Amino acid sequence: MDLKNKIRVIPDFPEPGIRFKDITTLLQDGESFKYAIDKMAEFARNQNAEIVAGPEARGFVLAAPLAYAMGLGFVPIRKAGKLPGDTVSVSYELEYGKDMLEIHRDAIKPGQRVIIADDLLATGGTIKSTVRLVEELGGVVAGITFMIELSYLPGREKLNGYEVFSLVQY
Ligand code: AMP
Repeated sequence: MDLKNKIRVIPDFPEPGIRFKDITTLLQDGESFKYAIDKMAEFARNQNAEIVAGPEARGFVLAAPLAYAMGLGFVPIRKAGKLPGDTVSVSYELEYGKDMLEIHRDAIKPGQRVIIADDLLATGGTIKSTVRLVEELGGVVAGITFMIELSYLPGREKLNGYEVFSLVQY
């Protein structure tokens, strides 16, 4: 199935020079959405996943149905101040300034095999922070899956040593 054809590229969003990969056009097509999640589930099954984690907001859209499709639990990773329980946090550099991600301290058990899912791998900053949170809780990152990988950016290098799977490459 041609998923790339379903992704809309919007030039100069959110700022000049960025070619924004808009997955909403793919998500609104039921057949494509199902195919994408099924493919991710195939990958995750091969990694013997036990639980699925995803960073907000677009990571939720993929990680939650992936977990459901596999009959596994889902763990949300959120921006600072959103999770109500005891959390572990990590701050990371953005192009301009800093951001912080958090996970509930009791969300993952030591040794549990975790699949991380997100919409897009660009520089890898977001997903590296997600990996750090999972590992801080003693989780084992069994694999990382994206809808889209921008292979002209060094995201995959940042994830050296991890199993990385993407559905569409640019
Ligand atoms: P990064 O931390 O650089 O790997 O990028 C993190 C997030 O930024 C991704 O999960 C996307 O949600 C978003 N992003 C970065 N570049 C693009 C792009 N060209 N099109 C759409 N979303 C993007």
